Amino acid sequence: MIRETLTMIPGPTPVHDAILDALGRPTVSHQDPAFVADFRRCLERTGEVVRGPSARPFVVGGAGTLAMEMALVNLLGPGDRLLVVTQGYFGDRFRQVADAFGIAHDALDCPWGQAVPPERVREALADGGHAALAMTHVDTSTGVAAPVEEYAAIAREHGALAILDGVCATAGMDERFDAWGLDALLTGAQKALGAPPGVAVLVVSDRALARREALERVPAYYADLKRWMPVMENPALYFSTPPVNEIRALDAALGLVLEEGLDARFDRHRRVARAVRAGLGALGLELFTAEGCRADTLSVPLYPDGVVDADFRAAAAARGVVFAGALGPVAGKAFRIGHMGNVGPEEVARALDAIEGALADCGHGEARGRALAAAAEHF
Ligand code: PMP
Repeated sequence: MIRETLTMIPGPTPVHDAILDALGRPTVSHQDPAFVADFRRCLERTGEVVRGPSARPFVVGGAGTLAMEMALVNLLGPGDRLLVVTQGYFGDRFRQVADAFGIAHDALDCPWGQAVPPERVREALADGGHAALAMTHVDTSTGVAAPVEEYAAIAREHGALAILDGVCATAGMDERFDAWGLDALLTGAQKALGAPPGVAVLVVSDRALARREALERVPAYYADLKRWMPVMENPALYFSTPPVNEIRALDAALGLVLEEGLDARFDRHRRVARAVRAGLGALGLELFTAEGCRADTLSVPLYPDGVVDADFRAAAAARGVVFAGALGPVAGKAFRIGHMGNVGPEEVARALDAIEGALADCGHGEARGRALAAAAEHF
């Protein structure tokens, strides 16, 4: 899969050739029977990947943010209050979406790089005043994987709907729609699923759909689940033109996920994360994210003193590997390495090699292959 430039940002992730082949098939009518069959399979596979036999999948043209919006506007009505648990930039986005639609909300946050303890969620939900809880599995800004299974259990206990943003986790870290009692799980195609961007994925429970039914009207047209429901039950129907090529690409990506096997895939993500961190450690780089809540899908190493973010990333790009800058309070102090989707030892090796070389270009140490040697032990 290695190409001239390797994109190691936390989404979009490198797209496997088999997925690009599916994307590049000739565009056909959205009502072509062959495409309708592909769309149907894509929806079925979506349910399998989130371990949700009872889940109702929605796959629409858009991105993760659209799926966040769909979850909130369809599940919360006038008089409902939302509790947002936020570990950073993308958790905060739930608050912004709620603000945009006038949805009353409270938020629990914590210092960047840490996770909100479940006890705080329990306290906040104790009075039963919240109709739903919104949480982020992996906040891509901080590299934190939150204890969302526990949060979801607490939401259940208090009768609040559980909405999970899995954008930086789904298909890279364990998620169980049915077993965790989730009501909405959302993601984008371009992250751990390994497909190109362009598709928003949302799966909801029957409870969530009943909530939508109970709302007379929602402040949405394209994002209204009720308008999409007939299409998701029968993809031969029309509401708005589906992105034919992108859905075929997502279907191929989901096929690869299931072919690899969910447990094997999560295990690979764990091994890749360990290898990347061993390599970073060998270079003396520390991680921003607190130990105990580090995601398997990305790493956020802090720069050593004297290394300038823009210079380092330009040097890495000149060596053929693109990394992402950090966000918010961490901007300039760290960089972000995405290692999710269909990346393996080859990509990790190339990324670590570029990091070691780029640090040397910035006057920090020499490129001697230390990172690679340390990572190799994990493969
Ligand atoms: N949530 C998380 C955790 C994300 O990482 C992102 C994108 N980086 C989003 C939501 C928003 O997704 P999109 O950019 O596809 O709208």
